[in-house]
Amino acid sequence: MSASLSSQLARAEQALARFTAEPLGHFVDGRPVAGEGEVFENRSPVDGRLLARVTDATGAEVTRAARAAQRAFAGWRAVPGAERRRLLHRIADAIEARAEEIALLECMDTGQAWRFMSKAALRGAENFRFFADRAPDAANGLSLPTDTHLNYTVRQPVGPVAVITPWNTPFMLSTWKIAPALAAGCTVVHKPAEWSPLSAWLLIEILHEAGLPPGVANLVNGLGETAGRTLTEQPEIRATAFIGESRTGGLIMAQGAPTLKRVHLELGGKNPVIVFDDADLDRALDAVVFMIYSLNGERCTSSSRLLVQRSIHDAFVARLAERVRRLKVGHPLDPATEVGPLVHARHLDKVLSYEAIARAEGAAVAVGGGRAEGPGLPAGGQFVQPTLYTGATPSMRIAQEEIFGPVLTVLPFDDEADAIRIANDVRYGLAGYLWTGDAGRANRVALALDAGMIWVNSENVRHLPTPFGGMKASGIGRDGGDYSFDFYMETKNVALALGSHAVPRLGV
Ligand code: NAD
Repeated sequence: MSASLSSQLARAEQALARFTAEPLGHFVDGRPVAGEGEVFENRSPVDGRLLARVTDATGAEVTRAARAAQRAFAGWRAVPGAERRRLLHRIADAIEARAEEIALLECMDTGQAWRFMSKAALRGAENFRFFADRAPDAANGLSLPTDTHLNYTVRQPVGPVAVITPWNTPFMLSTWKIAPALAAGCTVVHKPAEWSPLSAWLLIEILHEAGLPPGVANLVNGLGETAGRTLTEQPEIRATAFIGESRTGGLIMAQGAPTLKRVHLELGGKNPVIVFDDADLDRALDAVVFMIYSLNGERCTSSSRLLVQRSIHDAFVARLAERVRRLKVGHPLDPATEVGPLVHARHLDKVLSYEAIARAEGAAVAVGGGRAEGPGLPAGGQFVQPTLYTGATPSMRIAQEEIFGPVLTVLPFDDEADAIRIANDVRYGLAGYLWTGDAGRANRVALALDAGMIWVNSENVRHLPTPFGGMKASGIGRDGGDYSFDFYMETKNVALALGSHAVPRLGV
């Protein structure tokens, strides 16, 4: 074991120690509460060790959290924007101060590699700073005057919101929802994913240590079909911000329908990266490898389908296969690791099941396909080989379904029209990446792709004011910049007569 890994492990042990004593409960109205529901285990993907026991919130506990958020709403919405800005910056400071602890926990809880998670924790702080600075102007609207009336719009917070998050980069994704909600003046009940609940506990602590008033942010732990479902049904909750699978997104819409909840859904993807023969192929290769094998491929915006022009297919795929073979699978806390273990045994089984599916469909397993084993890997860990499927056709399951692992499917195409047709021939529409040296083609293809976000000659590089979200089965709504406030706030129009228009007179 390298010296850097053993010192990382020692620090991780310290961060984890506090979670072993009592089952993890909930955090409601400004304080931790022990859970009364069933207890489930949270095990590490690294070696299967028990990290924490966690309580599944009962219906009554979820209701208490929703009511706490409702009680706190009147006070929080009245806090001036400048004061919300100050508080949210304090939260960002506190996240930065504990970024290492957050990243250590996330590596052990999710299996994601340190090289990515250390940045993700800091991205969480950035999310708070970004929305902090927008808090004072969040209410601003338009002036829409006529000859007879002054019309102006204002935005007002929608009310208590539910935030339901997945396990792939849990801390960063939670801040991506909670920061704009708080900046807008909403109160929050957060339910983190049952497979990675630890960093959400740090976040709720940080929020309160920074001075957030009691009840403004609440946390309930638990399973999706129990605690999550109940949360989306609470009448006090006005909107649900959800990140997760497309199927769950549909359930959340249905569960919220009787109480007419606004929903914002960030769902799955099967994103194409299209490489034309006139592209800078060295840069394209780097991006193709990065965008599916970073974060274990457990990333909604991963480019899990490589569409490569037939004229360069063989040479490009040969270079790609070589890079995939050399990826370093290892302990997530090892700074050298590029691919860590998958989050849960059930997810591991799902990802591995695609090897047999690929073979049965007639694709070739060019690299990987199975479990990764070896002397350098901890026993009992859920490690997989970075995998490359070639010889695939667009209708195969490996080209249609979100596998959500370090697994790439290669599809050849002939020309621009062929590339667009294959790229759009999936139920998802989150992101699209394209590589070409022809500016006209870049724009033609970008406009033709059915996806909410397109990157041209780039990997996923985020700019927080830009809209983030998907089309088709990839979601409803956009986050980022002002788009987030459109979700967390109501737009109200006020019409003020100048006193000169004729009021219709009835019954005169
Ligand atoms: P999931 O849908 O299984 O679970 C997500 C969250 O929903 C968890 O907290 C879970 O407990 C909860 N949940 C499950 N059933 C529920 C129900 N009936 N009612 C209320 N809550 C319920 O997703 P996952 O496996 O945790 O995450 C992986 C998925 O998330 C992938 O499909 C990935 O593409 C997607 N994702 C999307 C984005 C995006 O921005 N579009 C970002 C990250 C992940």
